[in-house]
Amino acid sequence: MDLGTSAAGIAVLKRGGNAVDAAVATASALGVTIPFVAGPGGGGFMVIYLARTHQVVTIDGRETCPQACTRTMFTDPKTGQPLGYDYASDQPLATGVPSMVATWATALRRYGRHSLAADLQPAIKLADRGFRVNADFQQLTESELPELQAYPASRDLLLTQAGNPLPVGYLLRNPDLARTYRQLARYGPSYLYNGPLGRAIVQADDHPAVTPGNTIVKLPGIMKTSDLRAYRARVQAPTHVRYRGLDIYSMAPPSSSGSTVGEILNILSGYKLSAEPRATALFHYLEASRLAYADRNAYVGDPRYVGVPLHGLLSPAFAATRRCLIHNTALVSPVAPGDPSPPYQTCKNQQASTAPQATSSEGRHTNNIVTVDKWGNIVAYTNTINFFGGSGETVPGYGFLLNNEMTDFDFAPSAPGAYDPNLPAGGKQPRSSMGPVIAFRGGKPAFTVGAAGGSTIITTILQIILNHVDFGMSLPAALAAPRVSQTNSPTSLAEPDFYNSALAKQLTSQFGEQFTLATGPILPLDNYPGDATGIQFLGHGRFQAVAEPVRLGGGSALVVSPSP
Ligand code: GLU
Repeated sequence: MDLGTSAAGIAVLKRGGNAVDAAVATASALGVTIPFVAGPGGGGFMVIYLARTHQVVTIDGRETCPQACTRTMFTDPKTGQPLGYDYASDQPLATGVPSMVATWATALRRYGRHSLAADLQPAIKLADRGFRVNADFQQLTESELPELQAYPASRDLLLTQAGNPLPVGYLLRNPDLARTYRQLARYGPSYLYNGPLGRAIVQADDHPAVTPGNTIVKLPGIMKTSDLRAYRARVQAPTHVRYRGLDIYSMAPPSSSGSTVGEILNILSGYKLSAEPRATALFHYLEASRLAYADRNAYVGDPRYVGVPLHGLLSPAFAATRRCLIHNTALVSPVAPGDPSPPYQTCKNQQASTAPQATSSEGRHTNNIVTVDKWGNIVAYTNTINFFGGSGETVPGYGFLLNNEMTDFDFAPSAPGAYDPNLPAGGKQPRSSMGPVIAFRGGKPAFTVGAAGGSTIITTILQIILNHVDFGMSLPAALAAPRVSQTNSPTSLAEPDFYNSALAKQLTSQFGEQFTLATGPILPLDNYPGDATGIQFLGHGRFQAVAEPVRLGGGSALVVSPSP
């Protein structure tokens, strides 16, 4: 996030807006400055702390699959095999009902102080005036160049006339998006969900205008205006776990963040990580993650369509049965899921086994916004259009990219006929990993943190919590530290500084952990645990806003009244 984008949130706070207003202003401004990961074409999850009532609420603003979606929509009809993931994610078929604007409107109506019209003003100004393209923007464009070239509307907005990335320093204005935001300000969300913008989205999705000679776009969308009319962002209860005296809240399904972060923390509650040698503590972290991911993959989907045993997944007693499986050697992945329903097994009857799991592949491309206001309200908001550049298609005349979020569904079960909670269906939401946390100690906010990075969002959040809470790092240090992510695969994805560390070598020699080198926090962009943001609450009304010093070129953190 660049400073101009954070400034949108600050401007709203200075005008008397609260944390919810600031989050919406920042998210809409991100749609201007980083359209590859944000904007009205996507969706996300908001965790909100309301200071006055001391209540945590969440908004599920996840995209839905159009009613015409079927469980075999990502299967090749000729071969019966699942489509290639990269291929599918470039198709308009992968676009779900854009839910971002509904989320903003719901959040503001319930909890904001200003109107959507007021909170969109900084983004409108930014889109009109433009901003200077920087090296990260250019690299992001480069990484999605063929997809953007496939659509004249994307080319016009985001590329040079010759179809190349815009040069660093170029002043990129987006009058189309400014107009879109102005119309949303004027007519409200119905301009999208029951109006001209919705019709344009459906037209773009189902009848995409492609560049002559295009070889990428093959599968048009199946969205109808009725899908847009049916969309609702939902207010729902957060997940909650206790960890080392903290109360930790996050997103419930269809996000898998709250249940998986919670299960891992519950497993780790059985160890005194701060007193263990660091390699042992990290071994416990990696194995707890491995086991919890098996459960996530087996049980978490859209709860309106499948039964999700959330209570069991978050139960300390279930976590204890999973902890039984952790001994002195890395388990063989894919480990089998546990049974999260009582009565829980004792350690005596337990043995780790393997089980195939459905292949899924989430992107690594998201943004996380955290805001706090003078009243003490907090918003942590992770949102995305999924892959960098989403489907690659810009809605002609409206200035934003469409998501390709439906590729977060499993394309096929692990074996024909096997149960899979995350297969596509009409109206269903794909499982997500997005879900920031807000942590309290003694009823007072302690910190909030969230991250980008597809399925590594969960492990990134976890690692920051462990660094901060168990290993005593400040939140900035906890966030900056090298990361490693285990998601029930044979190897853990490690950033270079972790991969090359003595700790990694010890984890291999002592515990049999294997690592894959994440190909850099900056480029290529497809294989690294994502960037994070957070706020540490220092007491006496003081906060420290925290962003990445290095990953993705660095994030931004601003405050209204800096203090030394
Ligand atoms: N689609 C991902 C999810 O919902 C997030 C996008 C990403 O991080 O690339 O979990």
